[in-house]
Amino acid sequence: MNKTEIENKVYNDIVGRKQDAEHQADVRYYKALQNPDFEAVDKAIRASIIEKAKIEFDGGDAGQVNDKIINLKSKRDEILRSMGMTLQDIRPQYSCPLCKDTGFVGNARCSCFQNAVTKLLFENSNLSSAMTHTFKDFDCNVYDNKDFAKKLLTLGKNIVKDSKNLRGPVLLLHGKVGVGKTFFLECLSNELLNAGVAVVFMPAFELSQRLLEWHLGTLEEKNLLQQVFVDCDVLVIDDLGTEPIYQNVSLEYLQNIIDIRIMKNKLTVISTNLTSEEFLERYGDRLNSRIYMTDSALKLEIVNRDLRKDKNNGKK
Ligand SMILES: [Zn+2]
Repeated sequence: MNKTEIENKVYNDIVGRKQDAEHQADVRYYKALQNPDFEAVDKAIRASIIEKAKIEFDGGDAGQVNDKIINLKSKRDEILRSMGMTLQDIRPQYSCPLCKDTGFVGNARCSCFQNAVTKLLFENSNLSSAMTHTFKDFDCNVYDNKDFAKKLLTLGKNIVKDSKNLRGPVLLLHGKVGVGKTFFLECLSNELLNAGVAVVFMPAFELSQRLLEWHLGTLEEKNLLQQVFVDCDVLVIDDLGTEPIYQNVSLEYLQNIIDIRIMKNKLTVISTNLTSEEFLERYGDRLNSRIYMTDSALKLEIVNRDLRKDKNNGKK
């Protein structure tokens, strides 16, 4: 799902809860009306409220009718109690008291709306619960080339500010194993999520599995995977080149995904250990021409010592 679709879903859920709460209250109210005492006092309260409004409109003293309303209301409470009910029962029980399940407080989005959007974004992101790093954790000093690391960090921050602000819809990070590509992608994905962008993080081994499911799945599963890969605002594919290729299946789907995303100008971020020659050999001309051999992709090579070895030595 992209962000707009997520927002629409959340909004529809909230409005659904509102209708539900009001319907439940109506049902209990009509049930209470079956009691003639309740019906009489309810009618009297409504008549008195109108009477009070008329008096106030004419500039008169509504004190007396006001006392009457207070008395009637306490009588209503009494009748309800005798029926095992309270006034709350015949009022809608909104799940959010702030916005009364409208999703808005004034013109601003209610916090319940915003929280639900954020929750759904994270649920759809496919990031594991252990992957919580952001750019705050990105330490330029662990890179051999600190200038490059700084530029990479700035690029990442610019993407978060505006994912369309790249030269092209594809960002390719290539470099040897362990130079920090996955860590950068993890930070970038979390920053995008925090900024409310619908991002999907897809390790390549999982990608290939999902593409096979896409090929073999039911129509419903196909639609779901379409949402996962094509509709998200930013697709992050980590470690492309390490996954098994199911010939003519996963390759075909991957090509289509990349083509559609480029056409829609939606950002796809890919990391790989493969050189351009290896990439061509593995994925063929069509995908290579979309990702490696094109001006519409921003290609960055990360050259660094193996950070994982540093970590194992306890240096980090
Ligand atoms: Zn609310």
